Amino acid sequence: MEKRRFEELNLSKELQMGISDMGFEEMTPIQAKAIPVVLEGKDIIGQAQTGTGKTASFGIPILELVDEDSIKIQALILCPTRELSIQVADEISKLGKYKEGIRVLAVYGGQPIERQIKALKKGGQIVVGTPGRVMDHMRRKTIRTGNIRMIVLDEADEMFDMGFRDDIEFVMQQLPAERQTIFFSATMPKEIIKFASKYQRDPEIIKVIPKELTVPRVEQAYFELDEHMKTEILSRLLDIYNPKLAIVFCNTKRKVDELVAQLQTRGYFADGLHGDLRQSQRDRVMAKFRTGSIDILVATDVAARGIDVDDIDLVINYDLPQDPEYYVHRIGRTARAGREGKAFSFIVGRDKNKLRDIQRYTNTKIARKDLPTLKDMEELSRVNILEKIKEEINKQDFGKYSKMVDLLIEEGFTSFDIAAVLLKFYMNENLNLKHRELDKVDFGRSQAKRSQEITRLYINIGSKSGIRERHILAALVKDGGVPKDRVGEIDIYDKFTFVDVDADSAKQLIKRLKRIKGRKVKVEVSNPRK
Ligand code: ADP
Ligand code: MG
Repeated sequence: MEKRRFEELNLSKELQMGISDMGFEEMTPIQAKAIPVVLEGKDIIGQAQTGTGKTASFGIPILELVDEDSIKIQALILCPTRELSIQVADEISKLGKYKEGIRVLAVYGGQPIERQIKALKKGGQIVVGTPGRVMDHMRRKTIRTGNIRMIVLDEADEMFDMGFRDDIEFVMQQLPAERQTIFFSATMPKEIIKFASKYQRDPEIIKVIPKELTVPRVEQAYFELDEHMKTEILSRLLDIYNPKLAIVFCNTKRKVDELVAQLQTRGYFADGLHGDLRQSQRDRVMAKFRTGSIDILVATDVAARGIDVDDIDLVINYDLPQDPEYYVHRIGRTARAGREGKAFSFIVGRDKNKLRDIQRYTNTKIARKDLPTLKDMEELSRVNILEKIKEEINKQDFGKYSKMVDLLIEEGFTSFDIAAVLLKFYMNENLNLKHRELDKVDFGRSQAKRSQEITRLYINIGSKSGIRERHILAALVKDGGVPKDRVGEIDIYDKFTFVDVDADSAKQLIKRLKRIKGRKVKVEVSNPRK
């Protein structure tokens, strides 16, 4: 694809200066396609993967089109979270920093509304906010809509996923009919297309096709393992690759919570992000991740989407995503802004088929890697310790320890013997502490067990009977006697439920599990999923 420079857009000098200051030279594909159309005043639906520069795709035209001599609100941008609202407002302010008189305001839940009202009273051409809070301000008339000429729905798919539909509908209905309506989203489910057709006029649909989406600098690989080995292997990979910042993706909230607890127990600085957290909790986790007081973020797709952190050098698919498009979004979290990055995926049983889909979809080959062994780990520790010793020798700061060595030498021991003994002490202490957990994993057995298929069980009870995941899980563990970590996916439908377990547990459950939440149930092997 041909490269296009921002200069070609003939923007105002001040705006071009702001863009150059950001270090942007060429437009990203979505920017090259979208910016000229938005500048013309047309409605658009823009779809491109996370991290492809969608913010500037609407931010630049907005800065070009608003009238800085008026302080009335002329452009409104809706974002799914506080975090993203701040990020977008920040990026637009930076782009517009040489345009005098431009004010960008962010309004979101969680911050005292009075403070925002004060800021809004002073005026600003561009307001960025979460749907609920924007709606609040419209009701209070602290956001006046009469002069709004542009509305942007950023990460529209996520806002819909998060249940903001009614709020957004309210906001849309307050806006003048004469306006430009812009949608940006990483995916375009039918619901959004339908919503767009209600509020847009003859929109241009701009899509950056998936083939260009894969981030080429990311080294991709996969590991084949059993479900119960995942945390152990994850720990080993974290120790070996020692990432500056890592994101670990799980498919469910429950997994996120479990894994965070397991990693913390193992002494890692990890925390989790998922849709059930309150905004203030999310903010706290993100702040810790940004400042490096945690270096491992465990997240679900929805929670991690749109988060813009540049230094992530390792992405782990602890669970392989259902949708190949999500895979692309996930691995796009690393190798940003020209940095190096790695993306590793854990593959259990049936995931093999999903992996094939992903490779086809992304048009790349994902290499299989051998699982890191205990030997690899010891080798790694040895290398690390030798490095540390060399570093210390170079510092030549031995203090009272040199006297202790002198004593031994006077007694006739060689420095070689002394050093070897100390090293032995040190290695035993450290390796034992650090890899205490490792010894519990019997690798040989696990490898052999890999051939054991996961069994999908059918249970004739579902959400219509008030059944929730926790009821199923409690029954499997307490009544069925199956360890929690043997239980895989639980899919609850209206009248029945599917549960993934290993073959042994399946047999046991069919025999033992007679009731769930007091109701009689039948458990049987379901037909394998296609
Ligand atoms: P998206 O909204 O598509 O997920 P962002 O707008 O958050 O992506 O952009 C991701 C990162 O890329 C940001 O750090 C942004 O500053 C940077 N970026 C955007 N456009 C360009 C460009 N043309 N050249 C270089 N970096 C860019
Ligand atoms: Mg974005």
